[in-house]
Amino acid sequence: MRQARSIIAGLVAALVVLTLAPAGPSVAATAKKPPLVKPKAKPKPKSKPAPLPAVKCEKPKFRIFVDVGHTSESFGALSARNDPEFGFNLRLAKLIVGKLKSEGFAATRLLVTDGKARVSLLRRVGVANDARADFFLSVHHDSVPDKLLEEWEFEGAKSHFSDRFSGHSLFVSRQNPHFAISMMFARLLGKELKERGLHYATQYTLPLMGRYRHPLLDKDVGVYSYDQLVVLSRTRSAAVLLEGGSIINRDEEMAMNSPERHGLIAAAVADAMKEFCERRQ
Ligand SMILES: [Zn+2]
Repeated sequence: MRQARSIIAGLVAALVVLTLAPAGPSVAATAKKPPLVKPKAKPKPKSKPAPLPAVKCEKPKFRIFVDVGHTSESFGALSARNDPEFGFNLRLAKLIVGKLKSEGFAATRLLVTDGKARVSLLRRVGVANDARADFFLSVHHDSVPDKLLEEWEFEGAKSHFSDRFSGHSLFVSRQNPHFAISMMFARLLGKELKERGLHYATQYTLPLMGRYRHPLLDKDVGVYSYDQLVVLSRTRSAAVLLEGGSIINRDEEMAMNSPERHGLIAAAVADAMKEFCERRQ
């Protein structure tokens, strides 16, 4: 997700301006007599997308969008062995979609776009919003800030790695109109991953992460907030971003290349979604 972050930060900056706009005038200055005409409704602030009502979950009808992070053109991070993040995201997202469908979530869709990062980002969110998605899961793989990279050579090519950190991570936005529901799913998924012996990436609370530092909302299963991320804050449905693991860590990259690890994560997503759905019957 690393390369997208700076782009996202710039993109979101314009949107954030709206959230800082002052609220409308106070209603204290109303006339003493009751008004004869019903006053116009106060305009609502435009900072958040209008939330869709949180519907009950009926498995075959529950519209889950599994978003493949980045595009083949703007491919995200580069792994320790120089493979683009987009390929890892696509493989894992396809497995997740297949697993969810096999578990009865027939309306699950894979969301892939092409083009440059900024345009594709807005397009993916737009498609999900227009299709009245019930849930948005964005799939990525992790790297580290450039200052932590070390050099090595892989198959004769100068490459970069960092074996310092590993693990998956989960992000939610407190600006999402269904933050509580998003958090509920993120916790369930974190629990499922933990029960499968996987650990979460702990480095996001550390000062050395600089602008990539994020508050840890759940210390037990590793859920962080990333409030201004477009795919989490501009989606009208509940939304969670999953970093499947670190592809800049040389051992974890190999694990991420194995169908076993991705299969384990896809199964965790499906079990979490089943429990999430049951809780919302
Ligand atoms: Zn990414």
